[in-house]
Amino acid sequence: MFVVIMISEKGYVFDWIEKNKSRIIEISDKIWEFAELGLIEFKSSALLADELEEHGFNVERGVAGMPTAFVATWGEAKPVIGIMGEYDALPGLSQKKVPWKEPVESGKPGHGCGHNIHGTSGMAAAIALKKTMEEHGSEGKVRFFGCPAEENFSGKVFMVRDGYFSDVDAAISHHPGSMNAVTLKSSVALNSVKFHFYGESAHAGGSPEQGRSALDAAELMNAGVNFLREHVIQDARIHYIIEKGGEQPNIVPAYASSWYYIRAPERDQVEFIHNWILDIAKGAALMTRTKVKDEFMGGLYNKMPNRVISELIVGNMREIGLPEYGDEELKFARRLAESITPEMKMDQIRKSKRPGWEKLVDKLMDDEIPDPWGEGETSHGSTDVADVSWQTPTVEFSTATWVLGVSGHSWHCAAQSGVGLGHKSLIFAAKVMAATAIDLLMNGDMLNKAKKEHQQRIRDKKYKSPIPSEIKPPLDVWQR
Ligand SMILES: [Zn+2]
Repeated sequence: MFVVIMISEKGYVFDWIEKNKSRIIEISDKIWEFAELGLIEFKSSALLADELEEHGFNVERGVAGMPTAFVATWGEAKPVIGIMGEYDALPGLSQKKVPWKEPVESGKPGHGCGHNIHGTSGMAAAIALKKTMEEHGSEGKVRFFGCPAEENFSGKVFMVRDGYFSDVDAAISHHPGSMNAVTLKSSVALNSVKFHFYGESAHAGGSPEQGRSALDAAELMNAGVNFLREHVIQDARIHYIIEKGGEQPNIVPAYASSWYYIRAPERDQVEFIHNWILDIAKGAALMTRTKVKDEFMGGLYNKMPNRVISELIVGNMREIGLPEYGDEELKFARRLAESITPEMKMDQIRKSKRPGWEKLVDKLMDDEIPDPWGEGETSHGSTDVADVSWQTPTVEFSTATWVLGVSGHSWHCAAQSGVGLGHKSLIFAAKVMAATAIDLLMNGDMLNKAKKEHQQRIRDKKYKSPIPSEIKPPLDVWQR
């Protein structure tokens, strides 16, 4: 007599992810090596889209006006569970897989935010989820969102604007981090804007009186904004770079440009500061008899947390259990941690406001799974996951990938995202995401609770795309 034991939905995904571990890691490492910037992640997005297609997903490529954005769907009817993945790198953060600073090629991009893991953990979760649904004859739809340009041009905001999230019942996203964290914090809203100044060139030694310096205008604008800082709300952040400041000192610069990010907890605060900065730019142009043109590059909302899904994620993290590290991984982590000062580490951990954060100060890696925390708090980073969180119950969680105390967007993160520490985080996160999606698919009450909470949080508020309708994704930005 045979007894057929049906493995549970979750058991099936854990098993599938374990069995396919080496392929999943291979994909993450390839994307790490491609290290492609936002909107030109051609190889990275194709790798993920092809893999999903091979596993039976229906893939729509080049969505929302972005060649590297795609949507991969499998299944029928409702509910629709969205899983998001990012794969863009950061400029100038090229880094070898070593625990000290050493670029592969100086000045080139690198995965200093670990998006190679972000995209791959989501892809693996989506495929594992499809397999278990098939095996168990479960109803519902899995949709993987291939989301480009999170770091700079708010890819998801264009996807939201074009309605790609309108029928999604809940969305999950994973981000590598230095903590196992599902926070209830919001993120700050943001506007990204460039300023182009146009003057007159002249011989800077022979006839400077004939010139009108565009660089003077850019510098005076920055000075004006730096005085503005005293008169904006405490939680605002304004930062800029000068993209172009002239050719060489003996030519009065006829063209200069700067790029600003303006952040604050709410959209209206961002817009208020943005408008003031537009006046400052005009003032700088007036002072220097130059002309100024502003170019809107992107905008984001603040994030809406979701406690119901956050608690599911924590529950699944605990059920699966944190990864264990081998000697090589710990050696790598210890050597890398030598480059972080105790003060830096203390500040990074303290500002997380995680209850009991003091315990983490003497640890190398986060070895706990805390309850969700931070309701009512705002973190000072921004993400386009926020715009999705206004459409449907959404959670983005992190798993420990980097040593405690590390700052994001650094060579440290790039290095760790490509080695064993990153691989462990990736596999763990894929399981957590797939398990949480199963909870939402199988337990209609839970999904309804998450939706009710979402309704509660956005009531009396209105989402209006932060990107004006005439603005298209800036596809040519890296060719300029
Ligand atoms: Zn990131």
